[in-house]
Amino acid sequence: MSRYDSRSADPASYRERRSDSGFVHKGEYDGSRSSSSAKREYEGGALSPPRKLELDGLTPFEKNFYSESPAVASMSESEVEEYRRRREITVEGKNIPNPVKSFSDVNFPEYVMQEIAKAGFTEPTAIQSQGWPMALKGRDLIGIAETGSGKTLAYLLPAIVHVNAQPFLAPGDGPIVLVLAPTRELAVQIQQEAAKFGASSKIKNTCIYGGVPKGPQVRDLQKGVEIVIATPGRLIDMLESHHTNLRRVTYLVLDEADRMLDMGFEPQIRKIVDQIRPDRQTLYWSATWPKDVEQLARRFLFNPYKVVIGSPDLKANHAIYQHVEIMSENQKYNKLVKLLEDIMDGSRILIFMDTKKGCDQITRQLRMDGWPALSIHGDKSQAERDWVLSEFRAGKSPIMTATDVAARGLDVKDVKYVINYDFPGSLEDYVHRIGRTGRAGAKGTAYTFFTAANAKFAKDLIKILKEAGQKLSEALGIVEGVMAEAVLGTKEDCIYCIFEGSFSYREMGYYC
Ligand code: ADP
Ligand code: MG
Repeated sequence: MSRYDSRSADPASYRERRSDSGFVHKGEYDGSRSSSSAKREYEGGALSPPRKLELDGLTPFEKNFYSESPAVASMSESEVEEYRRRREITVEGKNIPNPVKSFSDVNFPEYVMQEIAKAGFTEPTAIQSQGWPMALKGRDLIGIAETGSGKTLAYLLPAIVHVNAQPFLAPGDGPIVLVLAPTRELAVQIQQEAAKFGASSKIKNTCIYGGVPKGPQVRDLQKGVEIVIATPGRLIDMLESHHTNLRRVTYLVLDEADRMLDMGFEPQIRKIVDQIRPDRQTLYWSATWPKDVEQLARRFLFNPYKVVIGSPDLKANHAIYQHVEIMSENQKYNKLVKLLEDIMDGSRILIFMDTKKGCDQITRQLRMDGWPALSIHGDKSQAERDWVLSEFRAGKSPIMTATDVAARGLDVKDVKYVINYDFPGSLEDYVHRIGRTGRAGAKGTAYTFFTAANAKFAKDLIKILKEAGQKLSEALGIVEGVMAEAVLGTKEDCIYCIFEGSFSYREMGYYC
């Protein structure tokens, strides 16, 4: 029985992952992060009755390309366990393959191996070591690993193997691999990585994102490209105007998957996934995986693996030194300048603000005060966004201010400091923002300005600091700072109630 057949043997499970399974989007989204209303719709029994999946007319395709190397196959159970323990790999799912210990344990094409050698990588990262065999087996996958741990290649290299094994594109065919990402800059970065590692092959790729003319993208699509990396909005636009189609997509990736499945993007994702054959391989990747996203996510998956590196709870990359300073809103700018004077050594500094307006204001002020700062946010033209990011990447403009548009995925070498001028809207965003530093084994430092208005995040922030083994004084500083700043009125505001379980507050004399 081929893999294709074995899947079609379970129509009920197929039905579950079909996106037209009865979920009705009523346009009630308010842009908030909570996915609870989507969950309610599912749980409210709106699912249509079981029906047989229409796989008729779909050409079978191969998606299991994994042949275990003798070295990996001969690992004893305890060796596998020990390896996973050492690299903090936790796995879930049926028939889990052993992790691979070296690049040569995987049957990547020679040109991919050459690129790996050129890049100077010495061994697979933990997520790659377990994620590659899983992805190459053609199975669906949820892969969770810290920022900067090589998730892009964890899905791109198996994608290259997948494409190589499929029949050539015929005129009018859409892509075979579709990677969805939340921002244009991230989509472009992924495309560059795809281009680099697929360079010597005949695999073509293109990037589909808004804010730029459609013409060149349409031309690429019409020429035929095996790999498309896209942001959802422009892709839907291209699909609706019939510039491409998703009938050949058999390998689907959601990078920054929790973001892609939150309320802002989920309806668009649904619309896209709807057009992809149900027996595709689907892979989710992120550094954060809130519990409430899992159930929604699994609706699109079939018999998935899940691999988590490190703690399954929200956590920051341990290579980042996290410093939190309590202050009032009107102290922020002076504190920023003081901090810049201390740390500025020509290395890259990324500063996050809450709003586009705030971003513009602070950037203007910094420039007036002589700091080489440029800014990137959603109200800037794509040309300016591209230029600012390239100046920052090149180190010509070492300070970049940004909204959360730069929070996820961006991999810029030598970002030594991340500064949260404004605290982000969620702890997930905090983890992603500071994760722009400390990448690929490097060390980094994050400074976070914390005001009384952020008090509700204190408890979870302290958890993250403690998990990452940060100095307790940081956490205590937050407690004391919030204590000094916050107007304590209600029981919820009480410092003891907020921090219960974290410290010995009674000893510190804090009660409600
Ligand atoms: P993530 O998506 O997990 O945040 P990326 O895929 O952006 O991380 O990778 C971060 C950096 O690590 C990139 O510069 C990438 O080239 C590098 N990298 C990827 N794989 C390895 C490896 N096996 N060894 C060392 N560096 C790697
Ligand atoms: Mg990434």
